[in-house]
Amino acid sequence: MASRPVEIASAALAAIGFALSAGAAGAALRVVASLPDVADMTRQIGGERVSVETIALGSQDPHKVPVKPSFVTKLNRADALVVQGLGLEHAFLPALLEVASNPKILPTGPAYIDASLYIEPLEVPSSQNRSQGELHPLGNPHFNLDPVQGKRMARAIAEGLARVDPAGAPAYQEGLRRYTALLDQKIGEWEKLAAPLRGVKAVSYHRDLVYFANRFGLELVGEIETKPGVPATPGHLEKLVDTMKQEQVKLVIREIAYELPLAETVAERTGARVVTISTLAGGLPGTHSYVESIEANLRALLQAAQGGASS
Ligand SMILES: [Zn+2]
Repeated sequence: MASRPVEIASAALAAIGFALSAGAAGAALRVVASLPDVADMTRQIGGERVSVETIALGSQDPHKVPVKPSFVTKLNRADALVVQGLGLEHAFLPALLEVASNPKILPTGPAYIDASLYIEPLEVPSSQNRSQGELHPLGNPHFNLDPVQGKRMARAIAEGLARVDPAGAPAYQEGLRRYTALLDQKIGEWEKLAAPLRGVKAVSYHRDLVYFANRFGLELVGEIETKPGVPATPGHLEKLVDTMKQEQVKLVIREIAYELPLAETVAERTGARVVTISTLAGGLPGTHSYVESIEANLRALLQAAQGGASS
């Protein structure tokens, strides 16, 4: 009977020990993702090892995400930060990081995971040529719209997670393997699906479809914006309408973050059809993941291209 308090004490300690180890095993890596595409990829690769919060919504313009104080709190507590990179988050991330007091997730820190690491950027301006305006100073940052680039993004994310959480390296490697296999399968399907888009001439609102067009054969003829981030001027629109008539452009692509009326006006004047897509995952209704979003964009474009010009 004298041993009873000891038994109780050791049982209590064992319970505490169990609770502690369960807590450690259940403590997911707190990841903040700047944009929904890299957020989804991080979840797909990291599974239960990560808990991911996203700053921007899929329906927002990544160049114009409003800064909120709640983002600072999230960044302050983050174990890692995943960005798409190439300057795409320039409008909101540097300002947030400046006040978040979390050195490890600064661009120079070990827990800053840059998904653009393996991307070969298109349209990198030379020092003499600033024709792409101020929004794309490191090259065109909208590479997420090409799923082959998506595989490169996934690789950079998996390697970054393994760097921050070395114990999880095998799990991240396995997550990457599975996700890459899914993307490979989808890319095969999408290339067949997109065959009717080859050679279809289109105008977009912002210059964000160059990687997508390279992959799926769409022919980009111009943009409604004068330059990335520079609104359309009447002179620019007149020239665009003339070019569209000459080239018989069938599609005006309006990214969901941009206004519809101007796209409609351009389409009406040229006999083209307006189609809405999203340049970020989850921007179109009914889409959540990166894969769903690429597919929804493709289907919207195909439907518009096959529907012919609106009258
Ligand atoms: Zn842009």
